[in-house]
Amino acid sequence: MVITRFAPSPTGDLHIGGVRTALYSWLHARQHNGAFRLRIEDTDRQRSNEASTQVILEGMRWLGLTHQGEILYQGARVDRYNRVIDEMLEKGLAYHCWCTAQELDAMRAAQMVRGEKPRYNGKYRNGGDPVPGVTPVVRFKNPLTGEVAWNDRVRGHMVIKNSELDDIVIRRSDGTPTYNFSVVVDDAAQGVTLVVRGEDHISNTPRQINIYRALDYAVPEFAHVPMILGDDGKRLSKRHGATNILDYRKAGYLPEAVLNYLVRLGWAHGDQELFSMEELLRFFRIDDVHGAPSIFNAEKLRWLNQQYLHRVPVERIVALLPEHLAAAGFAIASEVLEKAVPYYLDRAKTLAEMAGHMRWLANDPDAYPAKSAKRAFKGKNTRAILDDLGRRVEALGDYTRESVQGALEETVAHFALTFAAVGQPARLALTGGLPSPELAACFVLIDRQAALRRLRRAVKFLSENQ
Ligand code: GLU
Repeated sequence: MVITRFAPSPTGDLHIGGVRTALYSWLHARQHNGAFRLRIEDTDRQRSNEASTQVILEGMRWLGLTHQGEILYQGARVDRYNRVIDEMLEKGLAYHCWCTAQELDAMRAAQMVRGEKPRYNGKYRNGGDPVPGVTPVVRFKNPLTGEVAWNDRVRGHMVIKNSELDDIVIRRSDGTPTYNFSVVVDDAAQGVTLVVRGEDHISNTPRQINIYRALDYAVPEFAHVPMILGDDGKRLSKRHGATNILDYRKAGYLPEAVLNYLVRLGWAHGDQELFSMEELLRFFRIDDVHGAPSIFNAEKLRWLNQQYLHRVPVERIVALLPEHLAAAGFAIASEVLEKAVPYYLDRAKTLAEMAGHMRWLANDPDAYPAKSAKRAFKGKNTRAILDDLGRRVEALGDYTRESVQGALEETVAHFALTFAAVGQPARLALTGGLPSPELAACFVLIDRQAALRRLRRAVKFLSENQ
């Protein structure tokens, strides 16, 4: 059975690059009717924290990247790792090393002076006496000769000489195992057949393969996915904008848009941009992931999100919007949202943006942007026009889109003007200059009292400012 996994360290946010790796792993497992496992790599006690674990779980849930089986928490398996390390010590596959930090620093400095690559020199590899006052680390006895090779599913054939590798620490002096060791024990324990991870781990892979071999574990396949870069060619970081996946939820991206964006960042199927989940499961191939780094393009993600906003049912948007409206500080009834949303689909790329455009549906404008006021309120008749329109709207029997349209046309006729000469100031009075639908529809999206109040407010503003 094909088994893949996602093994984040809970030391910060759920990074967008990690999510892409998780997505590739998840797709590969699903395509092969396999299993996708989740493992929280929290052995680094100083850097790991519970809040980050929650962010990871929340992000994965939001994206629908469900795992099978129990979540493995490395922190709960330290005894298990130590048992394996003790066995390795007994079998001579690993050894204690009493070098102090100062000694290692001096070793490195001397190597650099000689123009050599800094590495552990194997001082205790063949035994040595304990140094009083020093708690030893445990190092893995890496083979001295030969080479390590694997066929990377993304990078192709990889070969590293053992002479390039030194004896890495597998247990720190505080008794905790290191990443390169626990990852092997756990990938084996979880039956992982394909490790998909970031290219930043590529130098760890030959070391890990040697540990698999020493322990007589089956070596999985590997797929090292290139890094995601910002538009300046540097590794994607907060400087380039949000990297935490949950910030995209907060900004009003749909999870399917984020997944669609991420899958394409490093993989293509012809020039197709939009993929249903069914299509992804059909077309995606881990072997087709590009070897070259991908450049994150925030504008393209926004574009894709808008495509998805157009495609999902309006009810879903109506259900998601209140959270974004609340963040902007107001609320709008769902009956109003149902009518307004279709209009905003062309004018907003995220739900947060859409919510921002909708402020006028909840609140009277508290100011008119100077530029819009200059344009829409410039006619000297404007005050009289808005006053006339207000009276006609007030006098209407039924307050409907059609009747309001009638009132607007009467005002146009009364002053013998173009529709725009009435429409522009009336729209600014109602909306404060925010993007808004056809004018008569704006009137009925807010109620008659609100419309009249806003027209009067504009009349007052004009009498004070003209
Ligand atoms: N915890 C490691 C990380 O987050 C996992 C690397 C791996 O997938 O092996 O970078």
